[in-house]
Amino acid sequence: MIHTPKTVSLAEAQRIILTSVTPLGPESIHIFKAVKRFLYEDIVADNMIPPMDSSARDGYAVIAEDTYSASQDTPVQLKVVGEIQAGALAEGKQVSTGTAIRIMTGAPIPPGADAVVQFEDTLEQDGYVNIFRRVDRYENYRCSGENIKKGEKVLLKGDRLNAADVGILASVNRDAVEVYRRPTVAVISTGDELAPIGQKLEPGKVRDVNAYALCAEVAKCNALPKPLGIAKDSLQEVRQLLDQALDADVILSTGGGSMGKYDFVKDAYADLRVQMKFYRVNVKPGKPCSFGVLGNKLFFSLPGNPVSAMTSFIQFVRPALLSLMGAQKLFKPVAQAILDEPINKKPTKNLRLLRGCFSLQGGEFHVSTTGDQKSSVFKSMRDANCLIIVPENSGPLKAGEKVRIQLIYHEEIAVSAWDPA
Ligand code: AMP
Ligand code: MG
Repeated sequence: MIHTPKTVSLAEAQRIILTSVTPLGPESIHIFKAVKRFLYEDIVADNMIPPMDSSARDGYAVIAEDTYSASQDTPVQLKVVGEIQAGALAEGKQVSTGTAIRIMTGAPIPPGADAVVQFEDTLEQDGYVNIFRRVDRYENYRCSGENIKKGEKVLLKGDRLNAADVGILASVNRDAVEVYRRPTVAVISTGDELAPIGQKLEPGKVRDVNAYALCAEVAKCNALPKPLGIAKDSLQEVRQLLDQALDADVILSTGGGSMGKYDFVKDAYADLRVQMKFYRVNVKPGKPCSFGVLGNKLFFSLPGNPVSAMTSFIQFVRPALLSLMGAQKLFKPVAQAILDEPINKKPTKNLRLLRGCFSLQGGEFHVSTTGDQKSSVFKSMRDANCLIIVPENSGPLKAGEKVRIQLIYHEEIAVSAWDPA
């Protein structure tokens, strides 16, 4: 079958993909499982936080004015008329001029008091407390609702929940929460030459890398990988595995997607009536990358070379999965870096994504490539923590030039806590 080779730029491909995404519906989950998920609802506070005026220190609840003349040499003496511990009530207690109530952090402020003197600035003897420092009104005093007001929206639909957000959910008494559902992602490898892990590597065969590496990328996005195994290079086998993939939200295949005599993925998609949006992208690695839709399902045919499959996943599939899960921020950060080695490549009409390794030196990003940049050299991906973005028509680059890098793995990079890195 003849296919129109619609070729698009990387930015155009991303735009086409994201306009094809309809975010998934909601599911209710326990907040223990909510971290990294995207909220499907606004969260409204059921109460004031803190619920009552309370003490911010262990000390004495006082009338601030009573302490105004206090100093280290001339302490003020107040009569201790009671004690309130955290969790107790202030009812029946009263601070009046000349008196104080012993109070613990988080305990309700008794009527009459408008400040707390911390224990460190006092000495209690025989029912009286000496105050060695003046406090202002509302010092060491938490006002009801100063953290969160009742009825306030504390989290918004689309927010990505972090650990602090889980704390906020607990503070407003929510143990279950509505989040966007996670997409299931069917992953299909294609190629007569592929052998799964565990099978003897016969002559002419190579190990299937993509199924495993891409399922790991899917899981890293917090989506649900569904590995379907290897289809041989025949229309019938690719079509059979696609049939098994059709209950997934996203279908990913690798290999068999270019113009080779034994590349059948496009035919299989056509047979399924997948509406194709583009067939190739002007990016290297990753040129033979196509995308289509069938209803709300997204179909990606990624290149076979493992490096190309992964860089294409990062540029095209990952943002789509995040968008399906309700995310608003879809792209890895891009920074400027100083190139530590020359890059001698001829200008082409393709954007190039070189595998790079960045480090922070004196607060500046430095970057070099991870060696041999052939897309069949998987080690170049393994050692990479960024992609060096070489624009279309760019000539050779000299060491010391500024380049843009996309940070693909921005996790811990320092070996000790306060390293300037
Ligand atoms: P293709 O896109 O099918 O022409 O494959 C391009 C190159 O990628 C070939 O050298 C394939 O052997 C290799 N390749 C394809 N799929 C995989 C895979 N799942 N794991 C490892 N290498 C692959
Ligand atoms: Mg192939």
